[in-house]
Amino acid sequence: MKIAGIISIGNELISGDSLDTNSSWLSRQLLPIGIPTISVFTIGDDVKIISDTIKQALSKADIVLITGGLGPTDDDLTRHAIADVLGVDLKLNDELLSQISEFFKGRNINMARTNNIQAYLPESATALTNHVGTAPGIMAEYENKIIIAMPGPPAEMMPMFNKLVVPKIEKYGHGQVVLTQKMKCFGTGESVIAEKLGDLMARGRNPLVNCTVSGGIITLHIVAVAKTKAQAEDMIAADRDRICEILGDIVYSKEEKTLAEVVAQELIERGKTISIAESCTGGLLAKTLTDVPGATGYFTYGWVTYCNEAKVSQLGVNRDTIEKYGAVSQQVALEMAIGARQRSGSDISISITGIAGPGGGTEQKPVGLVYIIVYNGGAQKVHRFVFSHSREYARLRTVLTALNLLRLEFKD
Ligand code: ATP
Ligand code: MG
Repeated sequence: MKIAGIISIGNELISGDSLDTNSSWLSRQLLPIGIPTISVFTIGDDVKIISDTIKQALSKADIVLITGGLGPTDDDLTRHAIADVLGVDLKLNDELLSQISEFFKGRNINMARTNNIQAYLPESATALTNHVGTAPGIMAEYENKIIIAMPGPPAEMMPMFNKLVVPKIEKYGHGQVVLTQKMKCFGTGESVIAEKLGDLMARGRNPLVNCTVSGGIITLHIVAVAKTKAQAEDMIAADRDRICEILGDIVYSKEEKTLAEVVAQELIERGKTISIAESCTGGLLAKTLTDVPGATGYFTYGWVTYCNEAKVSQLGVNRDTIEKYGAVSQQVALEMAIGARQRSGSDISISITGIAGPGGGTEQKPVGLVYIIVYNGGAQKVHRFVFSHSREYARLRTVLTALNLLRLEFKD
């Protein structure tokens, strides 16, 4: 089995102006064809550093994939560095030169002389045609190993990789298929999940079950290595079933769906409509629910009643209730939910009132305190949470929790 090393080149990547997304994208493409990535380097536009890094990558990897630095300007030095590693000169390739000038003619643009450099290849290397831009890719063999350089812009790199590089390298991953399946969970911490799943998450196991967390959403990655795709799929299906059995309602999607997508599907399938009355989340719940295409099928009204007066005039919250209990209280949350449901005529309403922070907290009502109500005209259940950390986190977590409460409502 061959393994890959990836090098992302560009001063803008190391200065922090641009994020290197090419390497993670490439790693994700390589694994399913059975070629794991052993190292990723991000370096600037410096010919010595580039050639040193290529050599370093070649010392551990069989296939070195490079992106960036193939442009026409003085800071584009990848081809020079590859020539240096191979110990050869750059040579003008007439066919490439005519392809590049055709590219410009086709777009009715005068070709700058600097573009000539893109027609130069290290001797013994071959070109990978770029159908989207002017910089051809480069492929070269070196002591039974392979060096592949592709343009930096993802829109040029991705099709080049899929169309020209995969057919050349997929044979090296042969005998192995690596499939990954993601499952989404919400409503508990990763340590609880790890404890519940026990041996399923043991290192070295096949499939390997990993866990990542972002904004309270826990993603389980099931990675299966097998001889055939069908075998890997069966292994993943077996693990997925066991995980669902163990975690129950904590799993909200056996695929890669968002909470909003799952909830939207439930609403549509049940033919239910919804309205939203928000305070501290400023419309984020309404936004998240309407991010899903087809929201007209279930979404009726959304209010952002930030000040007390809006809660009174728009949702019919009692002035006395606000005075007596405060705007952030279960009583106000309840009246917001009732008002929203009545005024919209929707089947279900959700209300949110809380203190997003960073200021405004007291001992009884700390920053991050939030009341959420999902109201369907039946029993009124108040949910109280405290989401600290930051304003952004509190708001995001509140919205996800509201969506999750709605999802669980359908389970009952
Ligand atoms: P080429 O490989 O075609 O020569 P270049 O280095 O000449 O590319 P740049 O102007 O440096 O071109 O980069 C073009 C664009 O591609 C920039 O917007 C840059 O941020 C983006 N880019 C380059 N490398 C990466 C990467 N690793 N991940 C994401 N974007 C990248
Ligand atoms: Mg560059």
